[in-house]
Amino acid sequence: MRAVTLVSPATVAVVNDWPEPSCGPREVIVAVHGVGLCGSDLAVVSGRRSVPALPWVLGHEAFGVILAVGGDVADRRPGQRVVVEPNYPCLVCGPCRAGATAGCEARRAAGISEHGLLAERVAVPARFTWPVPDSWDEADVVCVEPLTVAVGAVQASGLRNGDACLVVGAGAQGLLVCLAVLQAGGVPYVIEPHEGRRALALRIGARSAEPRKPGTTFPVVIETSGVPEAFEDAVDLVSDGGRLIAVGLSSRPARLSTFTLVQRRLTVRGCLIYDHPGGFAHTIAMLGSHDLRPGRVLRERYELAEAPEAFAQASRVPGKSWISLPRTEEMAS
Ligand SMILES: [Zn+2]
Ligand SMILES: [Zn+2]
Repeated sequence: MRAVTLVSPATVAVVNDWPEPSCGPREVIVAVHGVGLCGSDLAVVSGRRSVPALPWVLGHEAFGVILAVGGDVADRRPGQRVVVEPNYPCLVCGPCRAGATAGCEARRAAGISEHGLLAERVAVPARFTWPVPDSWDEADVVCVEPLTVAVGAVQASGLRNGDACLVVGAGAQGLLVCLAVLQAGGVPYVIEPHEGRRALALRIGARSAEPRKPGTTFPVVIETSGVPEAFEDAVDLVSDGGRLIAVGLSSRPARLSTFTLVQRRLTVRGCLIYDHPGGFAHTIAMLGSHDLRPGRVLRERYELAEAPEAFAQASRVPGKSWISLPRTEEMAS
């Protein structure tokens, strides 16, 4: 079957002879219909994030249809449309038992610690597949995972109804944070140097925080760019006593003095993915009851054969890129 692999640092290739997955007793086989691209995939491609082996199957934001279920799986059936929750916590370690599965000591992550989901068929632990209605637009379905990250960040921020929230960076994650802020009753403002991305943020309902009025600050700031200089800038824009949530990642240090932290009584909090099962359950329920349409943040759709081009262009196009796979619902024998 076909799979999109990293063959060497910065070289992505579609291979035609990747082995078929085998279905463990607690797993399901999913025919993948679409996979969104995000920053962590690009970090794997560039080599900033190392993976256990090459070639390596990329991707983690996947949806599709169940083809087969393992012998111990009673609550999933072939034909069901599902979104994959691509982080598989162990559910038995201390953090997992405390409900903080993002901090799992043995978390497996598709595309990072094990092969990714950008293949025609993948095996996934059944409990990490989430049924979604067939009627939902696939553009919205492909955004469920990154939207769950965004909603988690907004929840962690303690945003209250009517609060102004500065979102630093309007890449795909920043755009989804803007939607999550709106959904939570807040007012999102964005800072984004890329004009196309900024325009997209305004189109989905955010306001521009520029030009800046001297002295303007925000009770909640969510940093999504991962650029240390942007983080430093973000610190200056939090109101005294306010909260700064970091979602973007960089291994380069950002400066923050304890004088600033203490005198201005800031809360700075890092926010990593989501907890199982609450995160996905909440997002899917929210999509079922509100007209959020997260698919509005998508801009570029590529075919499977165009995957190398999709990865090469993903950091330049405004909005989120995704790859659509052909519907090959029968298992290759
Ligand atoms: Zn992602
Ligand atoms: Zn665990």
